[in-house]
Amino acid sequence: MTTRPDLVLAFGDITEQHADALVNAANSSLLGGGGVDGAIHRKGGPEILAECRALRAGHYGKGLPTGQAVATTAGRLDARWVIHTVGPVWSREEDRSEQLASCYRESLRVADELGARTVAFPAISTGIYGWPMDDGARIAVETVRGTETAVEEVTFVLFDEEAYRAFAKRVRLT
Ligand code: ADP
Repeated sequence: MTTRPDLVLAFGDITEQHADALVNAANSSLLGGGGVDGAIHRKGGPEILAECRALRAGHYGKGLPTGQAVATTAGRLDARWVIHTVGPVWSREEDRSEQLASCYRESLRVADELGARTVAFPAISTGIYGWPMDDGARIAVETVRGTETAVEEVTFVLFDEEAYRAFAKRVRLT
């Protein structure tokens, strides 16, 4: 059955969350980076990186394209899976909103394939990739609200006050 998931806001570090699947704001190399990506690999341990390397050796030889999502084990994290998705780098010249929306949609599609019922997302692209927080929150909330999925609960895990406020405002408005 597909319904609209409940939205929950949490403050803090996504690697401290429990959910069936935690979403990683990865980069296309799948081989680690800063921000959420660094935290997930540090806390989740080498099993995650090993599966990412195997993905690079197989279907994702050129890396994971922006807007797509793929799952691995969650290693030592309190979850069954990590879903890696690559957000767009924010651009003043080009509207990449559809790619950012795709990250949320594709992550939920992968979650459905896995049978995950609870999924935690960070605010994709709003860190190193420079997306303005208010707009990142708008796209996140509108897309999750507008996606048909069997996922029952989506938690947005917000790392600082600015992010939490932006998402809280958007959840009220949407
Ligand atoms: P991107 O490269 O997609 O911008 P980042 O990981 O740099 O990804 O940042 C995405 C968002 O996640 C930012 O708002 C950042 O503040 C936040 N963030 C960074 N580390 C964590 C963490 N451990 N848990 C949750 N959110 C985090």
